[in-house]
Amino acid sequence: MDVAALTLLIIAILALAFLIVLRSSKKEAKIKPLPASYKQILLDNVLFYQRLDDEGKKNFENRVERFLSTIIITGAGTTVEDIDRVLIGASAIIPIYAFPHWEYSNLDEVILYPETFNEQFEIQGNNRSVLGMVGDGPMQRTMILSQAALREGFSNKTDKNNTAIHEFVHLLDKTDGATDGIPEILLQHKYVLPWVEMMHKNIDSILKNKSDINPYGATNQAEFFAVVSEYFFERPHLLESKHPDLYAMLSMMFAKKNI
Ligand SMILES: [Zn+2]
Repeated sequence: MDVAALTLLIIAILALAFLIVLRSSKKEAKIKPLPASYKQILLDNVLFYQRLDDEGKKNFENRVERFLSTIIITGAGTTVEDIDRVLIGASAIIPIYAFPHWEYSNLDEVILYPETFNEQFEIQGNNRSVLGMVGDGPMQRTMILSQAALREGFSNKTDKNNTAIHEFVHLLDKTDGATDGIPEILLQHKYVLPWVEMMHKNIDSILKNKSDINPYGATNQAEFFAVVSEYFFERPHLLESKHPDLYAMLSMMFAKKNI
């Protein structure tokens, strides 16, 4: 290599290094600290956050802040309060906490309804049983949540339910194109078959009334995965003692650390 080529190479490397530094400093500058009142809401309501060490809490806060600055949250017939924003952010981050660079590229907006709604998003009328859903068709990239169910999910510490976490797990599942209970992004290929067998064995037990898993999980594989993930994040120790195989598989998928 002659001197001119070497000089060019050095200039190119320096320019590249400069660009990398510039990009990363821009990225860091984007993250504002979470307001102190939001941190207090996390501390008062979110068990997952309470159990993190100081550094973990900081990471969690940054990710909630980043989520809230990129996703629109709208109230439909209700007012979105700070606690709703924080709980939605926490529900989004809990399932993906172990993956620092994960962001929900398939979501733009969360719409909050006061209570339950039906599949046509009507608040009045019969069949008002839906607590949350991930939209399809024209509602693609939208999540609908019941404000009451969102808050209940975090206020009840002894059940195994958390509607918002359930819906974010559906979004994770959907990342590979199919909401089918097989989150290919979280599951190495060799574990797909054992996981499917495990799901079916447990769905059978639910149908035979021999399981403590929410019966809604027997609807199909996607619902089973979302329901058992709620159980995993809400009552990890109970799941570990009652269903060690499910616990081990979900721990692997969610790369569980220090929960
Ligand atoms: Zn569901």
